[in-house]
Amino acid sequence: MSTLTLPRWFARTRSAGSAPAPSRASLRIGVPRVLNLWSTHQFWMGLFGALGVDPRNVVFSSDTSEEQGRQFGKGRGTVDCCYPVKCISGHYGELLFGQKQKLDVLFSPMIYTLPSFMSGHVARTLTCPRVMAAPENIKAGFIKERDVFAEAGIAYAAPFVSLDEPRLVPKQLFEGLRNVVPGLTAAETAHAVDAGYTALAAFNARLRRKSREVLEWCARENRACLLVLARPYHMDPGIGHEIEVDLQAYGYPVLWVQYAPVDDDLMAWAFGEDIRAGIVKSAFDIRDVWPSSYSSNTNEILWGAKFAARIPWIACVIRLSSYECGMDQPTYTPTQQIIERSGTLFFSFQDLDSTKPAGSVKIRVETITHYLDKYAADIIAKKKATAAAGCPLYAATA
Ligand code: SF4
Repeated sequence: MSTLTLPRWFARTRSAGSAPAPSRASLRIGVPRVLNLWSTHQFWMGLFGALGVDPRNVVFSSDTSEEQGRQFGKGRGTVDCCYPVKCISGHYGELLFGQKQKLDVLFSPMIYTLPSFMSGHVARTLTCPRVMAAPENIKAGFIKERDVFAEAGIAYAAPFVSLDEPRLVPKQLFEGLRNVVPGLTAAETAHAVDAGYTALAAFNARLRRKSREVLEWCARENRACLLVLARPYHMDPGIGHEIEVDLQAYGYPVLWVQYAPVDDDLMAWAFGEDIRAGIVKSAFDIRDVWPSSYSSNTNEILWGAKFAARIPWIACVIRLSSYECGMDQPTYTPTQQIIERSGTLFFSFQDLDSTKPAGSVKIRVETITHYLDKYAADIIAKKKATAAAGCPLYAATA
């Protein structure tokens, strides 16, 4: 193809029957940077971009902070006891009151199911009910005396969306967005949903490739890395308190389970024996350790424990969990047992809340790195001795 054809090609694509209404380009949409937005943001960027919204006009709130809650969420609290939900009041307030240029829409999807690499291998990929219902819960704090959204001239959109059921999503989002996106049609919503999934898949694939490169480097250099088992919102510095960043500063690469490499060759090597023995049906089947595989993030945490147990260079697992998380509590013991039985170090930071316990985190980070410095080489050697032959992570080292 000559380069001269490219401008025409792109031009035709942009005008293919779904030209956005002119006002779309100036539509400003605020999105709270909370909960499962941490793992689905690229879907929403792809969707709004395909609907003709200027990406610069999709405004995410800041990372969670106590200051944000004090400044923008004070007096707006609702009944939820989970900090990852409670703190959303500050995000809503920041989007409503803290913008130099006013927003037109506050968009806060009620995500019911999540797209997961484990879909089809587990019972369901549901979100935590508190997470799913959080947008309605938090909204109540902004309409209890008077409607703050109406006063600010900002429309509120919180569509219920089953992201792991792509055939339902166009209808759900058309219904949820038609009143706030000018001139929206069902056909262009379907097209935009496709663009959202494509953007999300490309982003996830890029991060998984990076994680694989890290593991290949570890295999080549015989060096240890760490895996974080946590919920997507623990990537928020105000919720996970950047504990993994403190650890990485000691020179240990850190991977997150959400972006673990899941290539066929690696999965066949890590889980092939269990599949052949009939213990599981696939690499992403977790019935051997967690039969009630309904919750998406919980499923991925349990799978991550199995993955860490099988990869020699993952010498340590860090478990993060928020204060009194009812979803996490039943998983503590199985996760720890799977990891420790493989000889991998396991450290857990439970009951994380609004304030970073800086002193105790510092001491524990020093303890973890001390153990890693002392034992990582032995852990890797022992795990390699029991692993199957032909690890594909070596292929890039040849
Ligand atoms: S802390 Fe646990 S129970 Fe609370 S919202 Fe998060 S996942 Fe749900």
